[in-house]
Amino acid sequence: MSTFKAPKGTYDLLPPDSAKFLAVREAIAAPLRNSGYGYIETPGFENVELFARGVGESTDIVTKEMYVFETKGGDRLALRPETTAPVLRAVLEANLHKAGNLPVKVWYSGSQYRYERPQKGRYRHFSQVGAEAIGAEDPALDAELIILADQSYRALGLQNFRILLNSLGDQECRPVYRTALQDFLRGLDLDEETLRRAEINPLRVLDDKRPDVQKQLTGAPLLRDYLCDACKAYHEEVRELITAAGVVFEDDPKLVRGLDYYTRTTFEFVHDGLGSQSAVGGGGRYDGLSEMIGGPSLPSVGWALGVDRTVLALEAEGIELDIPSATSVYAVPLGEEARRILFAKVTELRKNGVAADFSYGGKGLKAAMKAANRSGARYALVLGERDLADGVVQLKDMESGEQSAIGVNEIVAELESRLG
Ligand code: ATP
Ligand code: MG
Repeated sequence: MSTFKAPKGTYDLLPPDSAKFLAVREAIAAPLRNSGYGYIETPGFENVELFARGVGESTDIVTKEMYVFETKGGDRLALRPETTAPVLRAVLEANLHKAGNLPVKVWYSGSQYRYERPQKGRYRHFSQVGAEAIGAEDPALDAELIILADQSYRALGLQNFRILLNSLGDQECRPVYRTALQDFLRGLDLDEETLRRAEINPLRVLDDKRPDVQKQLTGAPLLRDYLCDACKAYHEEVRELITAAGVVFEDDPKLVRGLDYYTRTTFEFVHDGLGSQSAVGGGGRYDGLSEMIGGPSLPSVGWALGVDRTVLALEAEGIELDIPSATSVYAVPLGEEARRILFAKVTELRKNGVAADFSYGGKGLKAAMKAANRSGARYALVLGERDLADGVVQLKDMESGEQSAIGVNEIVAELESRLG
């Protein structure tokens, strides 16, 4: 061990487990790629103001969880705690929304940083795959995103997850609800901080996880009962579209993503095998966000799925992903000349698309075969002194144990045909 350890609240992805993470990212991305979403990548840090405005001054993320630092040049930056605001910033900066092809549909994959209290499923560095559809107000777009996320989880084999769905209303109906909720909250027995929150952003109080607070919220007014006709119709359409697609969901009238510019559709994916860190992903409409960061009106919808918690969900359900072995052929040279010849063959195999590895470090036969085994390769190629003289190599099927001599010049063709 070195003098150093991974920073608190972080962990390293190491082989072979890391293959699972790649597979999860891929499973989430595949339906997006297949549905018109283009890949976008933004920096790991941004101007801190982007998040202050784009996530919200009253959120935990901005008040407690951001890694903020000043550069030598005097810029105030923050490691990104989420990627919706950066994506919108990038789209506006490049004028993608003016290309006349709305919505702009993009997906991303990457690290997020939040200074949180570390626990299982809650880390200071974690990974999300996300999707954003920018610049269109259409219930089919909200439905598309929910259906695609559902498809990702199903493709991974997950079953014990639930989709919670709600509508947050819009500029017209939410203010009326907000006032009603505030009146209700003022009558409760709440601590200072929560009362303050009730004044700034009362909807977020509904999201309070503490049981004593939740108990008091039992009779709280619900947005559902305050939605204007347009919001009601929009929400009904989303519900019908995802129902028709066979996606099962639960109406959760208390579900909030309590920022002022989050509007209408809001949803969360929760997994029942994860204890208190049960949210595996979330998203919704954010029709007001573009204007909050100085852009034009661009109604948009998106989600972010947590890769780390999705992997934990797989483990909770005992799902083993079918990850093919990374190496198909493992070459074992015995002696100097064999080493040169086999190394050239391995290079040739790789050029021909066959995943091949090599026994390095002049290992003896026994240690080399152990390594071949560990590599998961289906075939081993062993080249010894006597084989050299005969111009052959021993090809061993690691599954059946069968072994046969083939000509050194037939290696590539033979393995290509055997591996299909
Ligand atoms: P929570 O309520 O658990 O704090 P959140 O509402 O802050 O979650 P979002 O900002 O909606 O989460 O992020 C989307 C997803 O990213 C979450 O559903 C979760 O899977 C993942 N995520 C968020 N924070 C963390 C974290 N600290 N560690 C690991 N995954 C996280
Ligand atoms: Mg959080």
